[in-house]
Amino acid sequence: MRVLLVEDDDGVADALVEALGAHGHEPRRVARGVDALTAHRDFDLLLLDLGLPDQDGLEVLRKVRRVADVPILVLTARGDERSIVRGLRSGADDYLVKPVRLAELLARMDAVVRRGAARTGTADRVVRVGDVEIDLDARRVVVAGRDVALTTKEFAVLAVLASRPGTAVSRQQLMDEVWGDAYLAVSRTLDVHLTQLRAKLDRPGVIATIRGFGYRLSADA
Ligand code: CA
Repeated sequence: MRVLLVEDDDGVADALVEALGAHGHEPRRVARGVDALTAHRDFDLLLLDLGLPDQDGLEVLRKVRRVADVPILVLTARGDERSIVRGLRSGADDYLVKPVRLAELLARMDAVVRRGAARTGTADRVVRVGDVEIDLDARRVVVAGRDVALTTKEFAVLAVLASRPGTAVSRQQLMDEVWGDAYLAVSRTLDVHLTQLRAKLDRPGVIATIRGFGYRLSADA
């Protein structure tokens, strides 16, 4: 993907540009906030430092957010809770504290871009499996003509599976999409939500377990 790296530290920037390029991305680096404001339209993702020489990265974040919904991942040395909350509230899709592990950065980049694509998707968003009907936009689930009340997380788990019916989805990917972060999500939490979800649907075949991998919404239960 085309990545705009906004970073004033030459050492950090050079290392990241090289690493991203080596993993098939097309990074371009700018060092000032003002450059980010003029360049962001040509990119699939922004990696944004907060400590910039000409203006605060949070200000850059807010300005970009006013005009564009390009995914923005904050990459900063500011690791205190207040800064993280301010970053996310200002419109960042994710927030990573330096020094960052490359594998984690790459995974988070993929996750925020995937979520962005899901937001703007326009496909038919009602999935039917037997007498189970899942309306992804209305966030409504009907089984045999009756509404089933799901919690936000239960629906989120089901929605990930329903967005690609018949396709196996790994536990890692489920946690990544539902919690936004497979590293933070506790595996057992997923089990709890899945157990409740299956009990509420009361259709044992609809969510199949793929042992050692993950789950699949049956294409025709
Ligand atoms: Ca900096």
